[in-house]
Amino acid sequence: MEKLTVDVAIIGGGIVGSATALALRKSGMSVVLLDKGMCGAQASGVNAGGVRQQARDESELPMTRRAAKIWPRLHEVLGEDIEFRQVGHLRLARSEQDVQMLEDYARMAHDYGLYLQLNSGKITQEMFPWVSRKIAGSSLAVEDGHANPRLVTPAYSRAARAHGVDIREFTRVEHSAWTGSHFETSAPELMVKSKYLVNAAGAWAGKFIELFNESAPLTLRTPNLFVTEPVSYFMTKSIAVCGGAVYFRQVERGNVVLGGGPGWGDLSIERARNRADTTLGQFQRAIELVPELSGLQIIRSWSGLEGDLPDKLPIIGPSQTTPNLIHAFGLCGHGFQLGPAIGEILCEVIRDGRSETPIDAFCISRFDKVEEKKLANAR
Ligand SMILES: Cc1cc2nc3c(=O)[nH]c(=O)nc-3n(C[C@H](O)[C@H](O)[C@H](O)COP(=O)(O)OP(=O)(O)OC[C@H]3O[C@@H](n4cnc5c(N)ncnc54)[C@H](O)[C@@H]3O)c2cc1C
Repeated sequence: MEKLTVDVAIIGGGIVGSATALALRKSGMSVVLLDKGMCGAQASGVNAGGVRQQARDESELPMTRRAAKIWPRLHEVLGEDIEFRQVGHLRLARSEQDVQMLEDYARMAHDYGLYLQLNSGKITQEMFPWVSRKIAGSSLAVEDGHANPRLVTPAYSRAARAHGVDIREFTRVEHSAWTGSHFETSAPELMVKSKYLVNAAGAWAGKFIELFNESAPLTLRTPNLFVTEPVSYFMTKSIAVCGGAVYFRQVERGNVVLGGGPGWGDLSIERARNRADTTLGQFQRAIELVPELSGLQIIRSWSGLEGDLPDKLPIIGPSQTTPNLIHAFGLCGHGFQLGPAIGEILCEVIRDGRSETPIDAFCISRFDKVEEKKLANAR
């Protein structure tokens, strides 16, 4: 049995764990990153690649703003092209009520430094002639865009390794315990002793909260994605719509990647796949927004395993039961954009005891409060 002693052990080599590993190592800490498979092979590698700030919950805006500042220079930090394209993210409104929603959101987001350009339906069609004439208005986030998820997290883990992080792929963590002075985390033929432990195990994180006598209403989310044949590049913006029914983007190679609605997945067998009914329904919704998509061939469809929580916000921050245990999971289908910021935030939490970016809203104990309220109401 191999024995390792490090400052920080991280369970999970998705974008959250890999970004955290790099940030911690750059702060001078010794780090081991443990993944049961390959880094970036789960949600972080199969997502839609949307790098989007608008339409987030207000509590996430400081974190998403922090991430938005990292993305444009991430290729320099990682030393690799990650196909980040700052094309802008266009959110479409289908009714006057939706237009009002966009205006209210833009006003609120402005307070956080997120500037959204509001356009009438007429201006939207003048700027983007491929958008349906039925659209009532839009808001454009010019800093947003998309990146290639197949490249980003492997690039993070390679950069972390180059800086000295001990990366152990195909190393499934089976157990972890706090001894009173340190963690002992075990995988087959490996025992890691660490001062800190980061639970970044994505959809599988529930196991590591139970081990430390915590609970959260974590469930499985399996977003449905598909991609079309390549056609001439025309759709110059990433697209979403009020009501969140469907989202899509075109890559320079010409393929259109579309998503929204549920796929299928089973955590126990670690498998996810598309649902044909969702794919066909979402494609029809996308065509209603951008008629030029009509007639394109769908060439591939898929899904992935992601942790979900009832309030659609992640759990990020210290454990409530165990010293030096930090959780970061349950990204509810929108953690790719946030990942680079979460890495820096967790590094600050471990190094300084707090982060400059507010994360109180993501505390694991918020669900205890909900349970307490439910009990009080029942009495
Ligand atoms: C289909 C789909 C589309 C999405 N689209 C977008 C999008 O467009 N934009 C956006 O911002 N977000 C999107 N997301 C969400 C985003 O991909 C996730 O929020 C983000 O990747 C979560 O990163 P993570 O590191 O927490 O999890 P993961 O990438 O799942 O990483 C967790 C890691 O933990 C490892 N692990 C688990 N258990 C163990 C164990 N016992 N031992 C060792 N390792 C373990 C796993 O192998 C895995 O590699 C999408 C998600 C999906 C599934």
